[in-house]
This record gives sequence, C-alpha cells and structure tokens, in this order.
Amino acid sequence: MKTENPITPVFGTDEEARVAPKYEMPEGMMPGEVAYQIVHDEAMLDGNSRLNLATFVTTWMDDYARKVMTENMDKNMIDKTEYPQTAEIERRCVNILAKLWNSPEKPYCTGTSTVGSSEACMLGGIAALKRWQKRRKAKGLPIDKPNFIISTCMQVVWEKFAIYWDVEMRMIPVTAEKITLDPQDVVKACDENTICVVPIQGVTITGLNDNVKEINDALDKLNTEKGWEICIHVDAATGGFIHPFIDPETIWDFRLKWVLSISTSGHKFGLVYPGVGWVVWKDKQYLPEEMNFAVNYLGANIPSISINFSRPGNQVLAQYYQFMRLGKEGYKKVQQNCLNVCLYLKEQLKKMGIFEFFSNDMPNPLFIWKLKDDPNRKWTLYDLSDALHVEGWQVPAYTMPKAMEDVIIMRVVVRQGTGFDLADLLMEDIKRCVNQLDALKEPTNSALMWAKKEPQKPRGFNHSR
Ligand SMILES: *Cc1c(COP(=O)(O)O)cnc(C)c1O
Repeated sequence: MKTENPITPVFGTDEEARVAPKYEMPEGMMPGEVAYQIVHDEAMLDGNSRLNLATFVTTWMDDYARKVMTENMDKNMIDKTEYPQTAEIERRCVNILAKLWNSPEKPYCTGTSTVGSSEACMLGGIAALKRWQKRRKAKGLPIDKPNFIISTCMQVVWEKFAIYWDVEMRMIPVTAEKITLDPQDVVKACDENTICVVPIQGVTITGLNDNVKEINDALDKLNTEKGWEICIHVDAATGGFIHPFIDPETIWDFRLKWVLSISTSGHKFGLVYPGVGWVVWKDKQYLPEEMNFAVNYLGANIPSISINFSRPGNQVLAQYYQFMRLGKEGYKKVQQNCLNVCLYLKEQLKKMGIFEFFSNDMPNPLFIWKLKDDPNRKWTLYDLSDALHVEGWQVPAYTMPKAMEDVIIMRVVVRQGTGFDLADLLMEDIKRCVNQLDALKEPTNSALMWAKKEPQKPRGFNHSR
C-alpha cells in the first residue's frame, strides 16, 4: 500500500518496511524521498571511489566543477544547433588539446569529444581503415583482409575494434626483455594490408609508454621501401594528458610524420568525471568525409563525428572548466604531485624487500610490481589484494597477458585526490597485511591453486581499465 500521510518519516513508510523491487517494475508509485533513500543506500555498498586505486578514472573534482556539471546536466551534446555554445566549447577543447599535441592544422583543428577513449579509439581506427580501403580501391586491390599492429598489453577496446569491424589484430608480445612495443617486431608484422600501428602512451597494464618516435622512424623506412602508407594512431588514454605537462621534450605526437590521429580520455588524467574522451586528427584530410556528418550552425560547419548519438554535454563544459581553472601550470602541478606520490609508494614498497618492479621508469602515475620468488611464502598477491580490500582499499592483482601469463602483479594508479597522507595510510595497511600473511602457517587457497596452476577466482577487478 502507498503511504498516504505526507509527514510520515522516510524510515516509517511502508516502502522502507520491505525489500525494494529488484528485477520487476513495481505496479504502484512511491514518494521521491523514499525512492531516493533506497537508491542512495544501495549505492553505499559500492564502497569509496577514492580508495579505488585500480581505476584510472577521475574520482575527485572541485565544487565549481560539480556546479557546472549539475547546472548543465540537461544538455545533450549532439544537439549542436540547439546548444551552440556547448558546441563552440567542444571545438575550443579540441583545439586546446590538438595544440598540446602539436597539431600543424590551422586555423582550426579537426577532432571531437566522445564518450571516452573507447569511442575515440574506434573512430581513429575506422578512419585508418577507410583511408586504407580508399587507397586500395583506387589501385583495384582487394580490401578483405585488413590488419593492425599493437602490443599484447593493449586495452580491451582494441579487441572490440578488431571484432566489431572485422580487422585482424596482430599482437606483438611484451616480455621481461621487451617491455614495450618493439619497433622492429612491428615492422616485421606489417604488410600491404596493415591499416595502422597503435602504440600506447600510458599502457594500461604496465604504465609505460611505447616508443612512438622509434616506431614512426621504422615505419617511415618501411613505407619508403615498399611504397606503403602505414600510419600510426596513438592511444594516449593516459599519456595524452601527462606528456604535454610532465615531459614536453619527448616526441610522440603530431610532430611525427606518420602519427595521423591521437585519442585520450578526458575522464582519466583530463581530470573530468566519466565519461568524456577526445580524438584529434592531424589534418581534416585524414578524417574520411563520409565519417563527418556535418551540422551547420551560425555559418560554421561543426563536424559531427561519433558512434554514439546522444550523450551529456556537461562533461565537455567541465573539461573546459578544468582547462581554464588549471591552465598548463595547474595540470603540471597536479600531474607532478600524482607522480611524486607514486614514486613515494614505489620507494616504500622497495624498502620492504619482498617486491620486484617491472621497470625502473615511471613515465605515468602508475606502476606494477610482483613478489620476489620465495618457496616458503604461503600467499600470493591475490591474498594481499583481498586483505587490503577488507581495509577498504581496492588494489588489483592480476596476471600479465599472453607471453607473461605466469606472472602475478599488483598495480596502483595515483590520481588527483590521492595525496601523500592517504598514500602513507595505504603503506601502513600494506605492511600490516603483509605481516599477517607472512605469519600464516598453512598456504592460502590462492597459493595452493597457483602452485597447481589452477585458475584463480575472479577478483571483480577489471585490470583493463
Ligand atoms: C582506459 C583506456 C582505454 C579505454 O578508455 P575509456 O575512456 O575507459 O573508454 C583505451 N586505451 C587505454 C590505453 C586505456 O588506458
């Protein structure tokens, strides 16, 4: 029965006196404040996003950013004619990013906002596919076997790209010896059907950067020899917002001849809540015309390039807010602090003496480590991950991809909002949990399963984020 009395307190209502409807829509209505309380309370079980060191995605923004976002929640990004100022601000963001990535295009640069890097990667990949098809068709050559080259440490979006668009994914193994995408291996894997090579800046699994310059130079040689035009799409989901501020000297972007498109996640180190991403082309000639459903407004042609149609416009406004609020100086300070906290964590873990690190470099604010071999140890990093979870921290443990799948590693990503103080508390908890695990007399289930090479129970962490 519905609660008829408007002054009944929320927790005195009939609706709060029974379990909420779960998998079927209720027949009747309930007061907004009661429904709010139920949803609000269920969401508490998600835990605290700030203690989630698994994710790359923004979990803290300031109050003005929140204000901009709530005020503009009702605006649909796709309605560029109805919300021309949001469209104009999107264009400004594209230009700001393109310039951070040294785009040569003038006066305006070509690109779009997206739901995230996934959509941005898809658009970059599709453009490369279409350009390749067009070149092949013009020469009367078949177009039925396209492929692209990427490392085994790629993010899941590239598997999706391969499946959705029927493009063969040629993976180059990352190993303890070759810790990023190897340029010579790339060249060996290329052929006339290669639509593009996809180096990653801020490799999701390792935190490292593929060497785009060396790949570009190797491709340039190959293209000259063979008369091919194999290009590069840089998946800079993380690095797109790190390089320009932390390491402007490294040449990875449009300064390189074969880099024709770059994607990034605004909601990762772009410092905006999910979901916003960006893709930029070096010049409009690299964006196939048929992908651009141009919208005409105020005399200017606003490109409409997207897989999704409707999506929130407030995230684009929040991105612009961050650009203005922080400027280059602010982004540099925030990203540098994340790196410093990350370095501190790494040093502290090193001091414990039981861990080994995948690399000495830390170009992005994340790193991975593994346990040194010790036949007497009764636990694995999965156990440490579980123990930390009890304390509220989410620190993922996972196995490396193909070619290194017998290595369990742990990863932290340090984002805006993880300061030295929190990092210090995390270290205290790690040390305490390790002491407890070291005191175990019997091996844990995880250690037993691992010794027998049995698959481990899924941890609920998707390391591919
Ligand atoms: C996170 C990530 C993606 C996917 O990005 P979303 O913004 O989550 O869609 C793609 N590539 C890399 C390298 C990533 O880190």
